[in-house]
Amino acid sequence: MNRFRQARNWEPLIFELGSKGRIGFLVPEPEDVAKKRVGSIDIPPEMKRTRDPELPELSEVEVIRHFTNLSQAAYGVDNGPVPLGSCTMKYNPRIAWEIAGDPRIVNLHPLQDERTVQGLLEILYELQKWLANITGMDTCILHPAAGAHGELAGVLTIRRYHEVKNQLDKKTDIIIPDSAHGTNPASAAMAGFRVIEVPSAEDGNIDMDALKSVVGESTAGLMITNPSTLGLFEEHILEIAELLHKHDAILYYDGANLNGIMGYARPGDMGFDIAHLNIHKTFGAPHGGGGPGAGPICIKDRVVDSEKNIVLSDLAPGYRVVYDESTGLYRVRGPGEYSAGLLKAFFGNITPLIWGYVYILSMGPQGLRRVTEHAVLITNYFMKLMENVKGYNIPYGRGRFRKHEVVLSAQPMADEVGVTAEDVAKGLLDAGFYAPTIYFPLIVKEALMTEFTETETPENVEKYAERLKEISKIAYSNPSEPKTWPRNTSVGRVDVLKANHPKHVTPTWRVHVRRMRGKFSEI
Ligand SMILES: *Cc1c(COP(=O)(O)O)cnc(C)c1O
Repeated sequence: MNRFRQARNWEPLIFELGSKGRIGFLVPEPEDVAKKRVGSIDIPPEMKRTRDPELPELSEVEVIRHFTNLSQAAYGVDNGPVPLGSCTMKYNPRIAWEIAGDPRIVNLHPLQDERTVQGLLEILYELQKWLANITGMDTCILHPAAGAHGELAGVLTIRRYHEVKNQLDKKTDIIIPDSAHGTNPASAAMAGFRVIEVPSAEDGNIDMDALKSVVGESTAGLMITNPSTLGLFEEHILEIAELLHKHDAILYYDGANLNGIMGYARPGDMGFDIAHLNIHKTFGAPHGGGGPGAGPICIKDRVVDSEKNIVLSDLAPGYRVVYDESTGLYRVRGPGEYSAGLLKAFFGNITPLIWGYVYILSMGPQGLRRVTEHAVLITNYFMKLMENVKGYNIPYGRGRFRKHEVVLSAQPMADEVGVTAEDVAKGLLDAGFYAPTIYFPLIVKEALMTEFTETETPENVEKYAERLKEISKIAYSNPSEPKTWPRNTSVGRVDVLKANHPKHVTPTWRVHVRRMRGKFSEI
């Protein structure tokens, strides 16, 4: 059965269910006591509401049914493959859930005295150390809440570096390859830098001539994802590091793709100064709806000012956990005098961090290497299955093995019969598969960016490839058919342009209701 079909045609919203005055569970009010305690309070009239709050009023069973139905309308990695390239949608092992949900962790308060949360601090301290080990860096900070947040922490650190060295006025540029994730230029711009884009060469590496022509006096840093979003390892990385350091610029590692090299290569050994990791990608914590993320940054203790004894990690934002030998206690430290400050409250998003801790602990060093081996193997198996399939090609890095992901292009099909990557994606949904990331990276036309991760079975990957072949056959025999897809999902094809334009979509439940009732027919 098509899992996307399980959703009854538009699940009603909770606001549309129930009935006025209906309640779930009510504890009888201890009348006199409550009244005595509360007494009478004079609330200023301007602070009083003028109408009742618009809250749903449902019985308990209605609430349970509503959320159970919604859970069945969703598709996730617990239902089947989610080969969203770059997102590393691996299975989230339940043992971590069990431990992260332990009341001894869940019930802690972030303002509790350090001496009463030694267990949690020890976990965070160990995680900092393990991540430093995995990345080949000196200091890790668990504070940032996601990968993009880690990037911001990283570029703010780069900014502080040049500020402390009194050279920020000339260090204005951050260089970013054209294969980068959109968050890289966004983070650099948010930190006040000018973004300089460098092209990728045909072999998938950075175009070194282009890079050399832009690196100079004004270069504050360079952000690279390695392996890149094409799934290819940057072969010139040592040369790039040397070039950057010669110009006193900082090399930043976007660690979202670490799953392709973990246990085999470390950004610290490649010459990187700062790296972020996505615990919710590489280390098995759930993404998005599964909870908040965690994007720790790991930093080399590169000397910034030898007289004042400042190293690069002193400039990073956020708290870190340290071990005090003299008292035998773990303590929370920072942000110090030279730090870029705080990006959020407290130490980090504890739940995904625990998830990552349990993941690393349960895998062990050998297990983490095996993860990489399997992720790489399954990617190259899929690439092999898709080689020479009519309608698709695999641009960049011809003849090179991929790491964690491979980017197919539906450009031949689009050119020859007008069937696009979007149509292919809908054709996958129609058959009950989840679509890959499409139209990214931007340098690949009609991109289908596919990443199965080590937890996917070869059987599922084969079925997926079969469906892609079938779509190609249909495209060439009856090119108008793919334009009618998807037909088996609870929502038909939306106009992607309108759906993405704020003028056409106001994402509130009221619009959703209007759309359900057919009054919003344009989309
Ligand atoms: C996912 C991703 C990011 C951003 O990470 P978030 O945790 O989603 O904020 C950055 N770069 C790359 C290459 C990514 O895949």
